[in-house]
Order: sequence, then structure tokens, then C-alpha cells
Amino acid sequence: KEQGGALSPEAYFEGLFGEDEDLARVSESIRERGMPDISVAPGYGRLLTMLVAAARCKAVLEIGALAGYSGICLARGLMAAGRLTSLELNPEYAALATANIARAGYGNLAEMIVGDALASLDKLQASGRRFDFFFIDADKENYPNYLERAIGLAAPGAVIAADNTLLRGRTLNDAKQGPAVQAVRDFNRRLATDPRLLGTHLPSYDGLALFMVR
Ligand code: SAM
Repeated sequence: KEQGGALSPEAYFEGLFGEDEDLARVSESIRERGMPDISVAPGYGRLLTMLVAAARCKAVLEIGALAGYSGICLARGLMAAGRLTSLELNPEYAALATANIARAGYGNLAEMIVGDALASLDKLQASGRRFDFFFIDADKENYPNYLERAIGLAAPGAVIAADNTLLRGRTLNDAKQGPAVQAVRDFNRRLATDPRLLGTHLPSYDGLALFMVR
């Protein structure tokens, strides 16, 4: 995409990387099915891979799988014998994500839990599971609930990342007071003020939260 003859920053940086066949296949599977194309951006996906690898994560939990794009990016960063657990409400999306993650070579380390994420999180908590990386990217109204559940499931030093904290600018606009906007504002404020957490909000993409549990 060009802006007055110059490349956009995203187009410039994207041009530095070669085509990613596995992720291109995921995007194609989304288009073929007429699903919403709301996977993370390529650069965002690479950041997830790097963060999971840098934090030497062994147990990653993503909330909102769609077609498996972020799942593949997260799985790529996992340590040997690591595990990716994905929570997805829509059974068709979950099946597609499972197939795409397997096709990319990560089927053996991926677990998909189909159903409402809040109920799944409560079951994971009851079973004593712990995770060292969380990626929150599902229904915005539940972001504050997902944060509380993530803190409860977190191993010491776990990272919590979340997408869409700007809601395409609605978060910044006082005239917008719908339930999703209010929930995301509450989520953003909790992250910034909770003494159990350390991190920052980045205005990149559609707003990216990056925090760790102390
Ligand atoms: N993280 C994915 C990626 O980047 O490839 C995109 C996820 S998409 C933005 C949000 C997903 O959350 C959708 O697949 C949707 O079906 C799922 N979702 C919405 N509400 C949910 C809920 N209550 N529990 C679990 N998943 C939910």
C-alpha cells in the first residue's frame, strides 16, 4: 500500500520477509470459507513467536483461535515438548484451526478446547493447569474476565499479551460507550494499575498489551 509514493511502514517491513507458506494457507482457508479475516497481522504474529521463544515458554494458552494463524505463530516459538492450548467457541473454526496447525507441523503439540472460553478457563483452573504465556484475542466484553482467569492460571513470570486494545479507535473516543468498549477500557486500566503486573500498552496495530505476572 502506497502513501504519496512511499510505502507504508507495514508494507515496507513486510517486504523484508519472504512469503510464509503455512500462514498464507491459513489466510486462504479463511477466504475460501468466507470467514472474517481477523487474524493477527504478519508482523504481530512474528512478535508472538519471538516473545514465546524469548520467554522460553512451555505452556501457551490462546483465547480465540479462528483459523489457527496466531496458533501457528505461538507454536513456532515453543520450547521442545512445549504445548499450545487454544480455546475456541465456534466448532467449525476450531476444526479448521486444528487442521491448519497440524498442516503446519504442530499437531502433536496442539490442544484445542471447543466451547465458551470462560467455562474452559474455569475447568483448566480446577484441574490445576498452569501456563507461562497467554494470548487474549476473543470476545472483547470478556477481556476483564479473561485477565482475571489468566492471572489465576499464570506460572510466576508468565506473559499476558492481548490484541485489539484500541478497538480501531473506539477505545479513545468518549462518545463510544458500548459494552465492548467499556470492557476493553476496564481491561486496559486494570493492566496498567494492577500491582501484580508489569508491562506496557503499545499503540501498534489495533493496540497491543504486553504484560507479565510478577
Ligand atoms: N487469534 C486468532 C488469530 O489471530 O489467528 C484470531 C481470533 S478472532 C479475532 C476471535 C475468535 O474468538 C473467533 O474465532 C471467535 O469465534 C472466538 N470467540 C469469540 N467469543 C468466544 C468465546 N466466548 N469463547 C471462545 N472463543 C470465542
